[in-house]
Amino acid sequence: MALTPEQARQLAFEELTKAGIVITEEEKQRMEVTDFGLGMLEKIGLQVVIYVNNDRYCAKELYMLPGQICPEHRHPPFDSNPGKQETFRCRKGTVYLYVEGEPTPNPKGKVPEGMEGVFNVWHEIVLKPGEQYTLAPNTLHWFQAGPEGAIVSEFSSSSRDRFDIFTAKTEREIVDEF
Ligand code: ZN
Repeated sequence: MALTPEQARQLAFEELTKAGIVITEEEKQRMEVTDFGLGMLEKIGLQVVIYVNNDRYCAKELYMLPGQICPEHRHPPFDSNPGKQETFRCRKGTVYLYVEGEPTPNPKGKVPEGMEGVFNVWHEIVLKPGEQYTLAPNTLHWFQAGPEGAIVSEFSSSSRDRFDIFTAKTEREIVDEF
């Protein structure tokens, strides 16, 4: 049976707590659970706690279900800003991060059948707990949790997610914070 957003939120809360990451009740309640409008939360989606997001910086905690994917996107420039620059630090589990560059032969990441066309970058970066990677603004990226799920801390410049450009266009505008 498919997980409901409420179940995903509860699971994320429990897994973060187990990892020693304290989330307040208020933060739990406003945790974003997004399926990016694609209707397959367990395969493509994210659970996100936003600690802070202002016009200068942003910090988030991401919990990813086993094998869950954040779909391919980039953060375009706006006004005089070059676009969001972000650093992902793996806290628990394994994250397979895909960025522009030479495609990695036999990548660990697996995308849902029929969706191969909306995942174009295949240069693989494997992040284990304690490892981090910084993405240049306006470059395509996507990532997937390993089989045990993952916890990822995200540090970035301001998050203006409504401007993000996704390779997989969805029927509704993606305005959720993540
Ligand atoms: Zn991003």
